[in-house]
Amino acid sequence: MTRPPLVGAALWTAVMRNAGHRCECQGACGKKHDPGRTRKQGRCPLANGQFVSKVGEVILIAMPRDPINEGDFVSAAKLPPSRLAAMCAQCHDAVRRKIRTAEKKLAPQMDDLFDISEYYVDPASAKQADVGAA
Ligand SMILES: [Zn+2]
Ligand SMILES: [Zn+2]
Repeated sequence: MTRPPLVGAALWTAVMRNAGHRCECQGACGKKHDPGRTRKQGRCPLANGQFVSKVGEVILIAMPRDPINEGDFVSAAKLPPSRLAAMCAQCHDAVRRKIRTAEKKLAPQMDDLFDISEYYVDPASAKQADVGAA
């Protein structure tokens, strides 16, 4: 399964050139990316065109450097290349999961203000919505 770039080709190419066509994750996903076991924070080694077993060819995603404040796929296309980072699918998905987990932790504080049950979205359909937004 490979994903197409989520932003326009020209923007995607500019972001990838800035990144040297290599995933820019330096721990945002929670991994150390430390193959040499030096206990330092490394950078994800995945690069465009590499083949990863079970994943296939790596196609990096242009993702906002500040995904919490600058949104994700919808607004990514409107940001300049300097505000976007090249991320592999694994790091990108892990970052998204971390954001979602953080949002869930914040949600209970809303209980007194809003009845959020009517906004509750079944996780299965939320995934569907994500695919549509992408
Ligand atoms: Zn990565
Ligand atoms: Zn990573």
